[in-house]
Amino acid sequence: MDLTSTALTVHEEGNLYYLTFPSFDRTGLVRHCFSTRRGGISQGYFASMNLGFGRGDHETCVLENYRRICYVVGIYAGDLVFSDQVHGDRILYVDQQDRGKGIVQPVEMEEVDGLITDRSQVALVTLYADCVPLYFLDPTKKVIGLAHSGWRGTVQEIGRKMVERFVGDFHSDPQDILAGIGPSIGPCCFEVGPEVVETFAQTFPAWIDDVVRMPAGKGKAHIDLWETNRKILERAGLLPDHITVTDICTTHRPEYFHSHRRSGGNRGSQAAILELR
Ligand SMILES: [Zn+2]
Repeated sequence: MDLTSTALTVHEEGNLYYLTFPSFDRTGLVRHCFSTRRGGISQGYFASMNLGFGRGDHETCVLENYRRICYVVGIYAGDLVFSDQVHGDRILYVDQQDRGKGIVQPVEMEEVDGLITDRSQVALVTLYADCVPLYFLDPTKKVIGLAHSGWRGTVQEIGRKMVERFVGDFHSDPQDILAGIGPSIGPCCFEVGPEVVETFAQTFPAWIDDVVRMPAGKGKAHIDLWETNRKILERAGLLPDHITVTDICTTHRPEYFHSHRRSGGNRGSQAAILELR
């Protein structure tokens, strides 16, 4: 295996690989993972660990893939609760009544890019193929959240909105909250057109030199979604050393990750899964 990281722990269980945040593992309060494409049974461009339903893969393969990753992470697949991601900023509170929605029961929620809970054995799931997964844990109040933060979610500051939910709904102190910015498209690969640069310049004027790399010649600008999300979380009150930032670019590593950008959309999905024990 040549998948290494200085930010996340790489786990290898037979041919199944997944990643976790050391800061979350150290609390002993959660089970969690970010999946890779290794260790499943899907075929073709879904190979082999595709965790996205409804993209054209066989449902039986996706279910078996969930069974496998849940087994190694120690989560009961019937506890999974799925989002309905639309690159928006809506965050939904879920609890035991929502378990199984999206896998053994139909999804009921619509247009949800963030999930939050204070209940144990409710396993939050969000799906990825380059967008940025944000993981949250308040070890004091025992609250967790996941948010899907592609460039649109980043511009809408879904990370800040999640912190506000922790504070508003659960009386969290932002200085207690741990965050993980997971594997996703890096500044190395996230080329954007002038309209995206303009949106970032208008939304984050003070950060533009840090998060947008303008081309020297006729090339395209690159945006650093990792650093933008890190700054958003820091401005929301999180301590810098409570924020872990990925060093893995999913677009760069097709042998390990599904990438929307690299595949032009013919791809499977990684999952972020997070559960309070
Ligand atoms: Zn890259």
